Amino acid sequence: MSRESNGEMLSAKQIRDGFIDFFKRKGHELVPSSPIVPANDQTLLFANAGMNQFKDIFLGLTPPEYRRVVNTQKCLRVSGKHNDLEEVGKDTCHHTFFEMLGNWSFDDYFKEEAIRWAWELLTQTWDIDPDRLWATVFAGDQADGLPKDDDAAKLWTKVTTISADRVLGFGKKDNFWEMGETGPCGPCSEIHIDLGPAMCDKKDVPGHKCGVNSGCGRFIELWNLVFIQYNRAENGKLTELPAKYVDTGAGLERIAAVLQKKNSNYDTDLFMPIINHICKITGHKYTSELNNKIDNAFRVIADHIRALTLAITDGAVPSNEGRGYCVRRILRRAARFGRELGMHRPFIYKLAPTVADCLGDAFTEIRERADYVSMVIESEEESFGRTLDRGIEIFAAAAERAAETADRTINGEDAFQLYDTYGFPLDLTQLMAEERRLKVDTAKFNELMEAQRERARAGQKNVLLSGLIKATSSASGKLTVIPVTEDIHKYHVDTCDGKLIGFIETGGFKNQGRIEAGTEAGIVLDKTCFYAEAGGQVGDCGTIKSSNGRFIVENTTKIANCVIHQGRLAEGTFSVGEKVTATVSKDRDATKKNHTATHLLQWALQQVLGKSVAQQGSLVCPDYLRFDFTYPKALTAEQIKDVELLVREKIAADLPVTCAAMPRDEAEKLGAMALFGEKYGSSVRVVAVGADDDKKLAQAFSKEFCGGTHVDRIGSIGSFKIIREESISAGVRRITALTGSGLANYLEQRSDIIDELSVMLKVPAKDLADRVGNLIKENKKLTKELKSALKRSGSDTMAEAKKLLENCEKANGTSIIVGRVSTTAVEQVRAAIDMLKKKAKSAAIVLGLDDEGKATLLASVTGDLVKKGLKATDIVKQIAPVIDGGGGGRDQMAQAGGEKPEKIEDALTEAKNFIKQKLANN
Ligand code: ATP
Ligand code: MG
Repeated sequence: MSRESNGEMLSAKQIRDGFIDFFKRKGHELVPSSPIVPANDQTLLFANAGMNQFKDIFLGLTPPEYRRVVNTQKCLRVSGKHNDLEEVGKDTCHHTFFEMLGNWSFDDYFKEEAIRWAWELLTQTWDIDPDRLWATVFAGDQADGLPKDDDAAKLWTKVTTISADRVLGFGKKDNFWEMGETGPCGPCSEIHIDLGPAMCDKKDVPGHKCGVNSGCGRFIELWNLVFIQYNRAENGKLTELPAKYVDTGAGLERIAAVLQKKNSNYDTDLFMPIINHICKITGHKYTSELNNKIDNAFRVIADHIRALTLAITDGAVPSNEGRGYCVRRILRRAARFGRELGMHRPFIYKLAPTVADCLGDAFTEIRERADYVSMVIESEEESFGRTLDRGIEIFAAAAERAAETADRTINGEDAFQLYDTYGFPLDLTQLMAEERRLKVDTAKFNELMEAQRERARAGQKNVLLSGLIKATSSASGKLTVIPVTEDIHKYHVDTCDGKLIGFIETGGFKNQGRIEAGTEAGIVLDKTCFYAEAGGQVGDCGTIKSSNGRFIVENTTKIANCVIHQGRLAEGTFSVGEKVTATVSKDRDATKKNHTATHLLQWALQQVLGKSVAQQGSLVCPDYLRFDFTYPKALTAEQIKDVELLVREKIAADLPVTCAAMPRDEAEKLGAMALFGEKYGSSVRVVAVGADDDKKLAQAFSKEFCGGTHVDRIGSIGSFKIIREESISAGVRRITALTGSGLANYLEQRSDIIDELSVMLKVPAKDLADRVGNLIKENKKLTKELKSALKRSGSDTMAEAKKLLENCEKANGTSIIVGRVSTTAVEQVRAAIDMLKKKAKSAAIVLGLDDEGKATLLASVTGDLVKKGLKATDIVKQIAPVIDGGGGGRDQMAQAGGEKPEKIEDALTEAKNFIKQKLANN
């Protein structure tokens, strides 16, 4: 009997588990979802499909661990190729965050099993009426030379009970999947469901006919089966892949809606608890109507809080660029819709625990970080509230300007400023513009955006790495298999012998030939002891020598299992096949100390601040270490001291460091700390401090998943000091610390500064603080006194100037004001000149002052005199030689300085004569 009809409704959890169990019974291994924030993939902002974490397998970079895999992948579609952000709320089946259930075959079964099992699960296990289901297959593409997928078409009628007229062919847009412009690709076959005529939302569109891929709400896609069988080369040519893959994806939310007999994903148990919570907070009711403003706001907020919770849990933090900006945009969109429900104060953060209740069983990390997530969201909502108010003012001004233009368009610069400075997403500006019947110049906006992106990109181009990526799909259409470097030696030695097996230049990877002195390249060896940048630890530097040449390694990186020594051939030549010796720079000893100290620091922070401290990132290099972690407020000086003391105590005890590889679940049982959001394989390396040997790891006080290099005993770290503690974003703190010789250098420098100060201030070092304190006090007092003295002398200068005006000579209505003032402050003299010009209307002024042996003369004339040919610069030119100096300025104001103050009187007499003569000539 059908489960659909007997009223026994499956919960989302049962559906998810049912999918996984079904495929486990068919020999699939359950692999955990990769984090939403991809750990090692700069090409992708967020996981947006199940295949992301298996990309290296499809590219032939890493061998699969299992041939058959099942999983539920956390996906976020808010950027790039897949962006459903704007759809959310408007329909019932597109979310930003959703779970993609998938089964995978890595060169094991192919189309037949994939089709048969999908059908079996939907129609037998879950009892969906086969008459509601439709299948699509790839109909071929002549222009692209792509054949029809006849295999799939035949299989549908052969291995399932679907009737032939329900198997439809579609073109490349719907039924051909490509990973990128080059690389693995293949036809796909989708399963759609007919939700009935009532669900059509295009009834009013002329000519609309409901059907699969017709774009109305009646037919929706449930499950996509992708058959990866080709590789596309750079010249566009397709070749059959030697290995075939199956990659399927089914949206859990959509299947839940079908099995729970709901017309909308939002009516399922994945969303209703969140929607009910929004009702409770806002006092509004949800009526599940599509064209209803209030309901729409409910859907957007319920969707976005899931996305925010999942993304922040996995390590994304709201910011102004990249991932962080996407998160910020989602949050702001939700906050904006919150205003539709009358919510002007932060409230979205209150929903995060409800998301944890809904999804915490499937993804336990959500529960562990729920408090942190709420805190981040709340502080972001707070600050957006403030920006929103400021931005609304700026928007109003921009809108006013736009209303005066012919095409009523807000210019791109304004939209960009709103985005860049006030955090207004473009769609928010557009929405607000629409309300005033204005348009936005999006073309200009996009241009400015692109320019900004380009600036960001320019900073991080890595030509060598892109060369290697390119190399994976060579022009012949065959995948070049990237070599594997045996690099286990990095844990044991600083120098080792190996063979040069290839190098990467900008053109790609070459496994033959040679390079000459001066060439910048990436060197690939069969064996190395160099550590490639990973887990926050920088890549090693050093040298690689052969009998013919010497290569300087400036950085070491890794793609899949291939270690790339980046740098420059300093001397001679290097040929593929040659024997070489690779030697890591001594810097690595300092790096090791800093890395082990980072583990001690994390442990100590948890002791002092509590277990909620979780690593957000780290940087370990020879000079210092940096550790980012979650904590809501600044550490007190006392907390910092406590942390330092704990670390130093451990260092003094000189405990051993033990590293051991083990299965992941065993490491988890040991309580080893994993980095949040990091993807780990089934075997992990655990670094433990304080255990006698690797059989007794449970004794260790610090246990972390870590692939880095470490000291053997912590005594060798020597010393430890925190030199900075700061905030890097809401709820995330950063500590910078030093150890060993880095710290010794730092202290040495400080000590030099102290010695210098102590000589300068003539007190012993211990009294420096008191002395400086007194100086500051004294300085404050003097400044105050000086200010009032200046005020007095300022009014004195004015009085002097007025007196000069009263007693001055006149010629043709022009006052010739020439004389000495007693102040030494030029600013006061300028002020006096301004006053004189105002009072006298037409005046030529020359004032002289004597500042401890320096003579200054200021000349100024009113505009009418300039017109008559008397310029201040001419006066200055005339009189500067008298004081043995020089000067210059503008027509109305000029200044001269000289070494002979005793000649000021002479200069002034000269000035008076010069002016009189000039005026007389007019
Ligand atoms: P659609 O055409 O409905 O946007 P798609 O072609 O983008 O779907 P795929 O990329 O093939 O979908 O993803 C596989 C499955 O994931 C889909 O069959 C669907 O069940 C689900 N899915 C895709 N996008 C979303 C989304 N934004 N929200 C919820 N589920 C989704
Ligand atoms: Mg889509």
